[in-house]
Amino acid sequence: MPITLDQLNRAPLAEAAQMLDGLYEHSPWIAQQALAQRPFVSLAALKHGMVTVLAHASVDAQLALIRAHPELAGKAMVSQTLTAESTNEQTRAGLTNCTPEEFAHIQQLNAHYNAKFGFPFILAVRGPRGTGLAKREIIATFERRLGNPVDFERAECLRHIHRIAEIRLNDKFGFEPVVGNEVWDWHEHLARHSDPEFAERGELTVTYLTDAHRACAADIGARMRECGFDEVKIDAVGNVVGRYHGATPAAKALLTGSHFDTVRNGGKYDGRLGIFVPMACVKRLHAAGQRLPFAIEVVGFAEEEGQRYKATFLGSGALTGHFNPAWLDQQDADGVTMRAAMQHAGLPATLEAIGALTRDPSNYLGFVEVHIEQGPVLNEMDLPLGVVTSINASVRYLCEAIGMASHAGTTPMNRRRDAASAVAELALYAEQRAAADGDSVATIGMLQVPGGSINVVPGRCRFSLDLRAPSNAQRDALERDILAQLRAICERRGIGLTTEETMRAAAAPSAPAWQARWEKAVAALGVPLHRMPSGAGHDAMKLHEVMPQAMLFVRGLNSGISHNPLESTTSDDMELCVNAFSHLLDQLATEHPN
Ligand SMILES: [Zn+2]
Repeated sequence: MPITLDQLNRAPLAEAAQMLDGLYEHSPWIAQQALAQRPFVSLAALKHGMVTVLAHASVDAQLALIRAHPELAGKAMVSQTLTAESTNEQTRAGLTNCTPEEFAHIQQLNAHYNAKFGFPFILAVRGPRGTGLAKREIIATFERRLGNPVDFERAECLRHIHRIAEIRLNDKFGFEPVVGNEVWDWHEHLARHSDPEFAERGELTVTYLTDAHRACAADIGARMRECGFDEVKIDAVGNVVGRYHGATPAAKALLTGSHFDTVRNGGKYDGRLGIFVPMACVKRLHAAGQRLPFAIEVVGFAEEEGQRYKATFLGSGALTGHFNPAWLDQQDADGVTMRAAMQHAGLPATLEAIGALTRDPSNYLGFVEVHIEQGPVLNEMDLPLGVVTSINASVRYLCEAIGMASHAGTTPMNRRRDAASAVAELALYAEQRAAADGDSVATIGMLQVPGGSINVVPGRCRFSLDLRAPSNAQRDALERDILAQLRAICERRGIGLTTEETMRAAAAPSAPAWQARWEKAVAALGVPLHRMPSGAGHDAMKLHEVMPQAMLFVRGLNSGISHNPLESTTSDDMELCVNAFSHLLDQLATEHPN
């Protein structure tokens, strides 16, 4: 019989501790201490309670917990002395069924890992969907994590231990994230479409209006119809637009969505999560025969990443009336104009049709967007959701420092005009200056010595600057200080300088009322509230220009890595996200009664 949360909350301490037995390998103290936080309002709250206990424990206690775990496919598995929970997990992952070669390889990895870290490799082998990772994924992860720094890897092991406990807890409570699993599967299904050369390598790349892109649009549209949307269409720029009518024809609409195009060799969740989560909510409403006092318009934006054409935010920009007419004549790498690509896709490719996509903000309540975080913050804090306070303001420069190329052997150190060293000095300053703000970031992502040579003092150094901060004022101050320092460094070193501003985007602070709705929704799930800026740009930035907006982030695994095939998130977190979105809909329905 599965346990209920109510039973756990009411049971005497010893009995409650017994109910949670086996969650953390040979370490019942974690669940026992967490029980002091009863009553728990949700499983998510209980999970976080246990996370908190371990986060406050000493490093020694954390290491003892890690060391209480068996090696992956190790001696304990062979001698069949694993706990019942571990046996179940390692068997499901196929580890009890290795070929002699695989087994030998894993033993070697175990030995290397132990020698480097001094504790066993811990991996939640049931994976982000709970159904088990493939053996090759397990081995690839093992190999990759061997390269991590020791402190980072200890924290990564603890995160996997919490994930293992989450799955064990779900089993104990007979809980399955049914909706989260479904949404997870939708991502997996959509990811089978990829542009040709990438598809051959098993990589995910979907760029604007390719065959794979159009197949994605068709899939999303078909899925929307299945979910019960009343109107589904592909608009003049290739966006997929689904509308679930409100209770009355005159009702305004909530606008939501995100993009389904990807970067080259990207992840499966970037953008798509923000389309599928509201679709799952509409599916739920439709199944219950429920109409809200407002319509829900979900848009799968055709283009956000600017990969095939330099037309970033094309999809959301079309809704705000910011489609640049010059884009139609832009050519891709094969010389195909955007106009031709649109015509090939059966789109009208006229400015008139595109202009007609511009939304009248008075017909909308506002815009919300769900997105995978694409950063390490929530993962590190062991939090499933984060409420976005602002999409960061940014500014970019392409610069060149011009010194004097001279003989590396004969030019004394005090007589050099080394352009690369000047930029190196700036790089260290920029790092410290941004860090001092706490939430600003500064990056020199490109750094080249054109025509450089091993025996020549760098005469020129080309570099980029990417500066971002949660407000325009903070970004401006960061920019001012870094450029002033750059000039001072160059002057002191006798270096010439050119700077070219290539991009400037204003901050998009969340509308307070909409941010508050996300906060209420997260709190209602029993998940601790974490507010954070978005370091990346999103479609919400475009909609921000015409209507109030606010975003919700979902934790990414693997330190939140994104624009990378390792991008991942669990079906448990997706379920929480769908519930948060449904809660936001409920709040709006209460605020806007018929
Ligand atoms: Zn994205």
